[in-house]
Parts: sequence; structure tokens; C-alpha cells
Amino acid sequence: MELSKKRRKKLQSAVDQDYGYRQYEDRDVYVYDHGGKLGCGVFASRQFFPGELVIEIKGQLIPADEYDGSTYAMHLEDDWYLEPTIPGAFINHSCSPNCDLIQVTDTTNGLIARCNIEPGTEICFDYQWEAQSWIPRCRCGSRDCRGWVVGQDEVKKMKKLAARKKKAK
Ligand SMILES: [Zn+2]
Repeated sequence: MELSKKRRKKLQSAVDQDYGYRQYEDRDVYVYDHGGKLGCGVFASRQFFPGELVIEIKGQLIPADEYDGSTYAMHLEDDWYLEPTIPGAFINHSCSPNCDLIQVTDTTNGLIARCNIEPGTEICFDYQWEAQSWIPRCRCGSRDCRGWVVGQDEVKKMKKLAARKKKAK
């Protein structure tokens, strides 16, 4: 059975939207591969001013009761999680970020510039994860780095978890 042009186009657009296999292109941001452990990051192609929307983060919606704890899923209101596609999935964490994550529509989040962002700057936000048993070390390099990719009020719990894991070794 042959796939008609029309059907192919329709299906391909669904694939692109849901899985983001294709290289992401945007006039505002670009994906850059640091290589090695650092992996990919998202960078500003132009200047952004404080309060400006930098990027809309779209993705697959997962009901909270089916959420299996994927690291990159983001919580939305009304018990939904958003599994970001590219480039949203490539945005790195920083303890001293240049963007804030907010929900901008019923089904998407947005990154808003906290400060002036120059072209070529990596875009990041504070993941504020809960403490994780796999000890997510942070290497953001900011002066006030918390040491782990967790929220400020989870640091104590994270320290305990890390100490326990060290002992067990
Ligand atoms: Zn950090």
C-alpha cells in the first residue's frame, strides 16, 4: 500500500510535533551540542529583554496518574505533565538561571527572560526537582550553585540521601 502525499504530510507533521526528531530551527533560539557529558543546550540567537518570552515549550501531555517519573516531564496545572519535545527537552538547568518557567497556555509552558540575555548566551532555568535517589549532581558553575539539581527546600533532603548512598558504597 502506498502512502499518499497528503497522508504522508499529515503523519509527518504529527511525528515532528510529538517526537521532534528533526533539527529544530527558530530565529530566536538554536540548539548547540556541547559534546560529551554536557550534551545539548539551547542558546539565544538574538537579544532578549527582561520579561520577554524566549521560547514556548510544547510536548506530549501525560495525565498525572500515568506519569512514570520521566526526568524532563514538567508539571502543568490540573494534573497533567508535559514531556517536552526539542528544543524544550534540551534546555539545561542552572542554580542561577536567566529564565523562569511559567505555564503560558493550558498545554504549554514558556521560558521568560529574568534579565537581559545577549545573543549566544545559553538559555537555562531552575529545574527545582524534588530530591532524587540517583543523586543529580549540578555542574552549572554558578557562584551560588546548590550542588544538586533540586529546589532550595529540597537541598537538606538531598544531602541526607547523598550521605546515605556514600555510606552504602
Ligand atoms: Zn548548580
